[in-house]
Amino acid sequence: MRILVTGGAGFIGSHLVDRLVRDGYRVRVVDNLSSGRVENVKHHLESNSVELIVGDLKDPQIALRAVEGVDTVFHFAANPEVRVSTTNPDIHFNENIVATFNLLEAMRRKGVKELVFASSSSVYGEPEETPVDENAPIRPISVYGASKVACEALIHAYSRLYGVKAVVLRYANVIGPRLRHGVVWDFINKLLENPTELEILGDGKQVRSYIYIDDAVEATTTAWRRTEASYEVYNIASEDWIKVDEVADEAVRALGLSNVKKVYKPVLHGVGWPGDVKKIALKTGKINKLGFKPVMNSREAVRTTVRMLLEEVDGIHC
Ligand code: NAD
Repeated sequence: MRILVTGGAGFIGSHLVDRLVRDGYRVRVVDNLSSGRVENVKHHLESNSVELIVGDLKDPQIALRAVEGVDTVFHFAANPEVRVSTTNPDIHFNENIVATFNLLEAMRRKGVKELVFASSSSVYGEPEETPVDENAPIRPISVYGASKVACEALIHAYSRLYGVKAVVLRYANVIGPRLRHGVVWDFINKLLENPTELEILGDGKQVRSYIYIDDAVEATTTAWRRTEASYEVYNIASEDWIKVDEVADEAVRALGLSNVKKVYKPVLHGVGWPGDVKKIALKTGKINKLGFKPVMNSREAVRTTVRMLLEEVDGIHC
């Protein structure tokens, strides 16, 4: 069986590639290397276990080349930076919606019938009550979130019209080695630059669920293997949630620092930027019913990620 992983040189995509190769699949990656890195898949290229197409899914010809001869597509290519929505909404329109449309069209034309899509908890926006299950209203408050909703809608239509079996995964914050964006990465870089002060975007009270990459990959393959319906949506998260302030404390501790002055930069109702969500937490009963149980909770995921990223970026061993 041959599998295409779009965005396979990125953070989640490359860990998924590791897992699929380990499980014996033949894997092709398409990635424009905008945020992904060849280094993330280098070990597979050296052993010829993965084929890499460096190309952009905004180009329909690249999408056609990428899906040629594959049975299943894991679509993880996107611009994942929610904050980009504030200043450059066109980026999320093009990188997320246009690229997904090109991919679906290529799948239709080449007869590829199975898709796993990396959606996001940002499709829920700011729910009145949390945690939310998969039937909660879809009300994104960022263009990033809106782009994921648009992709989900396109995928649903392709599933119904052209018989593409689709599994949509709404991930919470996925963290772990190779991560290069988001709050954990931001805190580490700021603290390495200035160990006496930490700027926190928002009032620090924003609530999120953090899932460790190994758990996220396990949930992804579980959903793919065990879903029978032609279209299914799952929340993917750990079973708890923590405040951004607590993430900051973990980063400070892992760096062996103390007396770090926290400087809060809240906008609106305490969020970090327009489009940032104050509180989001996910019910995970649906994916749990398939047999998935995360190994780490949010705090353990943050702690492990900080430690691993420090080793990665600075050779600092904690
Ligand atoms: P990432 O930036 O590390 O990975 C995205 C990859 O897609 C990169 O390798 C990038 O080079 C590639 N890419 C982007 N645009 C492309 C294009 N037009 N053509 C080809 N390749 C392109 O980010 P990630 O955190 O690994 O996210 C992977 C997916 O999971 C994304 O779809 C993201 O929206 C989604 N997601 C991530 C999180 C998270 O917390 N990391 C949470 C929810 C959803």
